[in-house]
Amino acid sequence: MHFFVALLIPGGLILAAAAIVTLIEPWRPWLTLLGTHGPLVLLALAFLLGWRFNRSRLVYGALLLFLADRLLLAGNTTGGLASQAASWLVALVLPLNFLLLSCLRERGLFTPIGGCRLLAIAVQAGIVAHLAFEAPLTVLRWLAKADLALPKGFFLSLPVVLASGAAAGVILWRFGRRRDPLDQGLFWALASAMAALGFQGPVALSSYFFATACLILLIAALESAHGMAFRDELTGLPGRRALNEAMLRLRGPYSVAMVDVDHFKKFNDQYGHDVGDQVLRMVAGRLRQVQGGGRAFRYGGEEFTILFPGKGRQEVLPCLEAVREAVASARFRLRNAKRSSRQSKASRGKSKRTGKSVAVTVSIGVAERQSGKEHAERTVQAADKALYLAKEGGRNRVAT
Ligand code: GH3
Ligand code: MG
Ligand code: MG
Repeated sequence: MHFFVALLIPGGLILAAAAIVTLIEPWRPWLTLLGTHGPLVLLALAFLLGWRFNRSRLVYGALLLFLADRLLLAGNTTGGLASQAASWLVALVLPLNFLLLSCLRERGLFTPIGGCRLLAIAVQAGIVAHLAFEAPLTVLRWLAKADLALPKGFFLSLPVVLASGAAAGVILWRFGRRRDPLDQGLFWALASAMAALGFQGPVALSSYFFATACLILLIAALESAHGMAFRDELTGLPGRRALNEAMLRLRGPYSVAMVDVDHFKKFNDQYGHDVGDQVLRMVAGRLRQVQGGGRAFRYGGEEFTILFPGKGRQEVLPCLEAVREAVASARFRLRNAKRSSRQSKASRGKSKRTGKSVAVTVSIGVAERQSGKEHAERTVQAADKALYLAKEGGRNRVAT
């Protein structure tokens, strides 16, 4: 999917919808209600989900949003400089924490590291509260570095702008690289939190945007958990389960191609398992670009499947030839030995000596829809038979 489309769905849409809803005057009381109870309810939900699905970053994110909301409410109750200092400090600290969340690795919630992370959030909240209520003038002077009468919004503070810009940049960059739905969620949750902070209207509506931020994170965490079950981690392609579902949905004619890397075992033995993994990623990358409406899956091991809904065998042959050719002509470059830590010393030496690139080829067997009720299994079997013929015929070829 295109980067911007992938980024927009669903976090961007949720935030846009949430913003539009605020314009509908008769709904305001409901939004106020949502703002009053939403953050706490959503924090409880996030905790439940984060704990059961092992998504500690969801819990940290929701907790940060909840604390930010409570700090702002407390600031509003106190009023005056404390209110402004609280919102400016939150606008500085929250993005930096979101930036960290994007980079943190999952280490569990009820583990020593998980405990330390929770403690770090609590300590920060304590420091921010102390600064905002005990020394608001100092905070504002430091953040504004200008005449206090001038900058009304926190976005006029250079540290705040730098913090949110850096956070947004890093999260977007990571999303571009890994397409982790949680990064997408962090980005829009941050946008929603900044909307809450910049909001000049009723207090409950700012809480409403914090609740929206938390909802965006929750949905992103659900998406990432769902994606893990259907996506193959090594190659990023949809996995066997996704293939089974896609085949169940098929109506009418279709073709299935089974793709198998040639002599892959030898490759593994010679260069090590990690280089083998890199080869699988490279092959997956070429298969993903298959034309003719084909969709690639990782079937398992070094075997892949390409599904062509609505296409006959003869129609897809040129596309498969092109894919085979694309793999064969991509000179696979061996990365330096440091990245292949599991390789033996001997094979490491070998991979250095064999120079920069090695050839990888695939064999492909293709079959079109078989008759009968169990057409899916039978079509895959037929494609497997064709694959066997391709191997017999000398590999690096497409057979039907
Ligand atoms: P052929 O040309 O006949 O297909 O020979 P081959 O060596 O490719 O086939 P074989 O089935 O004998 O070997 C497949 C190998 O793939 C064995 C296994 O160690 C390796 N393999 C399976 N999954 C993975 C993986 O995820 N990563 C790596 N590095 N190797 C894998
Ligand atoms: Mg095989
Ligand atoms: Mg093979």
